[in-house]
Amino acid sequence: MKNKNKKDKLTIHDVVVKRILPLLAIPFILSGCAKRSECDIKDDHVHLYTKTENNAVVKTYMNSEYMKHKGYDWTSDSIKVTADDLAFYKVKGEMFEGEKNWDCLYNKMASCHDYLEYYYTYDDFEYMPGWTDEDGNEVGGYYYWDTTTGWTTDINHRGVNGTVRVRHPLYYGYKITYENGKYVKEKSPYVNDFREIISDYPYINGDKCVEYAYSKEYDFDERQLPSLRVEDVSEFKQADLSYTGIYDTYGL
Ligand SMILES: [Zn+2]
Repeated sequence: MKNKNKKDKLTIHDVVVKRILPLLAIPFILSGCAKRSECDIKDDHVHLYTKTENNAVVKTYMNSEYMKHKGYDWTSDSIKVTADDLAFYKVKGEMFEGEKNWDCLYNKMASCHDYLEYYYTYDDFEYMPGWTDEDGNEVGGYYYWDTTTGWTTDINHRGVNGTVRVRHPLYYGYKITYENGKYVKEKSPYVNDFREIISDYPYINGDKCVEYAYSKEYDFDERQLPSLRVEDVSEFKQADLSYTGIYDTYGL
């Protein structure tokens, strides 16, 4: 039984090492990005920041002088604001207006279509030396097996067994309201298409605007999988990308 405990400890050690290393690395990465502009405007103002996301240029105003901020690049374009506006921009943060950056959202939806995931399960066996005789010769041991399971998009993954599900993107945004003397951010419901919420929830965080829902699981014979298409099993309504505009054609 001694060796069995040893194996458990090894496993825990591996997990601890993997989780600590990324945490240690983050402060070094962030400290390299703190270069500030040489802007000398004295009045309260916010700068136009831009970035390229989903093959589209995204623009938003932020209260910052960092040359790189929240994934955006500083520009010298600025607008004067009031102190109250600054409170608004603090809550808005890196979010951008969906209507003014529609290409980014449309391209995002075009890249996030439904797709199939395949379940896999397989066993690995491992021999652990158990005990030795008086002369140090190994005379017994243990076999352990680990069952590995998960979901993959690779139909040729080891252990794919015919169970599939559909991964479906759901989109969300935010609105900013003024309540009890302060600005408050409120998240939208999850929708199949940004156009369902874009007028009521005009602000989008490009890094946090998609969540994935999963269908129920369907069992097929493995030999059926190569010809199985996502449309054959999807129970979700997908964004209609044949409409490229925001309002003019959508839903009419
Ligand atoms: Zn400035």
